[in-house]
Amino acid sequence: MHRGERRERHALLEQRPRPRGRFVISAYDDGAARGLHSHTWRMRLRDGRRSVCVSSQSGCPLTCTFCATGQMQFRRNLTAWEILDQVLHSKRIEPVDHVVFMGMGEPMLTLTTCRCGAAAPDLGATPRRTTISTVGWMPGLTRFVDEVDEPIRLALSLHAPADALRSEIMPVNDRYPLDDVLAECRRYFELRGRKVFVEYVMLEGVNRQRRACRRARRTCWIATSSR
Ligand code: SF4
Repeated sequence: MHRGERRERHALLEQRPRPRGRFVISAYDDGAARGLHSHTWRMRLRDGRRSVCVSSQSGCPLTCTFCATGQMQFRRNLTAWEILDQVLHSKRIEPVDHVVFMGMGEPMLTLTTCRCGAAAPDLGATPRRTTISTVGWMPGLTRFVDEVDEPIRLALSLHAPADALRSEIMPVNDRYPLDDVLAECRRYFELRGRKVFVEYVMLEGVNRQRRACRRARRTCWIATSSR
């Protein structure tokens, strides 16, 4: 590993969030005896930021192979109040200044609800400190690019550098190929002038070979620098 790469890695490790605790919020449908679960994580970064990672659905219909939520039975979308409750519950334990939609579910499937859940006053996290993460559900992503004026941050769960591998681990890629998703991210950058954050989970024997990581980096670079 080169010195530059080592420094980069060290800087990333420094910023790594420290999970402070996870709790499960149970919701019940009217008249139904079966409970629904959504998970919420509190995280503290080394620079003092206090983030809460919220869920937008109980289960998830998109069935990514590496994700525990994707293997659960999908139950339903959470309501705006159930999303809000996750943040309020965290706030009872300690102040919150960032909210990330990276828990259970794909937020772009329920964008309107997530916006309501993120827009409640006195949460402690402004839109600028709120991040919505997507695997590339295009109808929601297109709406996000065209309609969301608040400076909510956008993150893309990439996890693979090219279509073949991405489709293998993220079935949503068959429906919305990577090039289309990256083009939409580029449109967001051009229209809103805001960065898109990229997430890449390293999976042993699947996508963490040096070649795959370099290719992922190149994919993002080409996507943001061409034109
Ligand atoms: S979209 Fe997100 S929550 Fe749903 S299965 Fe994929 S990684 Fe898991």
